[in-house]
Amino acid sequence: MGLAAIKSRIRDACKKAGRSATAVTLVAVSKSQPVEKIEALLEQGQRVFGENRVQEAAEKFSGLREKYDGIELHLIGHLQTNKVKEAVRIFDVIESLDSIRLAGELAAEMKKQGRSLPCLIQVNTGGEAQKGGVAPQDLEALFRFCTEQANLRIEGLMCLPPVDDIPDLHFALLHKLAQGLSLPKLSMGMSADFETAIRYAATQVRVGSALFGTRENLK
Ligand SMILES: *Cc1c(COP(=O)(O)O)cnc(C)c1O
Repeated sequence: MGLAAIKSRIRDACKKAGRSATAVTLVAVSKSQPVEKIEALLEQGQRVFGENRVQEAAEKFSGLREKYDGIELHLIGHLQTNKVKEAVRIFDVIESLDSIRLAGELAAEMKKQGRSLPCLIQVNTGGEAQKGGVAPQDLEALFRFCTEQANLRIEGLMCLPPVDDIPDLHFALLHKLAQGLSLPKLSMGMSADFETAIRYAATQVRVGSALFGTRENLK
C-alpha cells in the first residue's frame, strides 16, 4: 500500500475518532528496507522515519540526510548502552527509553554532545519477559528519575503490545498512564492496528510493512 493510501486511512481514522487530521504523525518504519525504497518515500514528502538498529540506521541515513532536509529519525528498538553515543549522534527522537541506567547514559551523552533529544518511555504493557519496556508499576519512578535527576525531555510513552493480544487494552492502558503523568505524546499502533490506536488517542503511529511491503531480509 502506498504512502497516500496509508495517510488517507490515518485521516479517516482521525475523523471517525473526532480528532483533527493533523493530530497523528506517521512514523515510516524503514528497518530492513533498502535505501531506494526510503528515498522513494522522501521524494513523496515523507520525513519521519523509525529504525530499530543504530548501525543500520547510521549506514542508511547518513547519505539521505545530505540529500534531503528535515529528516526526523526515531529510534524504536532496544538501545544497548554501548550504542548510546552513536544513537545520540544520529537519531532525533528516542522512543525506547526503558531503564534508569539507560536514562543516565543518555543524559550524560546528550550533555557531552550538546544535543537534547526528546524521548518517549517504552512501557511493557503486556509484561512480556523478552520484550523491552519498563513495567507499568515502575513507570513513575523511571519518569521521575528522567525528569528530576537526568534532566531528559520526556514527551510521551510508547508501547508494542504482545502480537497475539487484542491491542485495545494495551492502548487504553498506555493512554491512561500518559494522562496520569500529563504526557502529550503516545506512540502506538503498527500496520495491523494503527486505526485502533488512533481511536485510543495515539499521536504517532509506526507503520512498516503496510507501507513498504514485507521486509526484504528480516533479521
Ligand atoms: C517493526 C516495528 C514496527 C512496524 O511494524 P509493522 O507491523 O511492519 O508496521 C513498529 N514498531 C516497532 C517497535 C517495530 O519494531
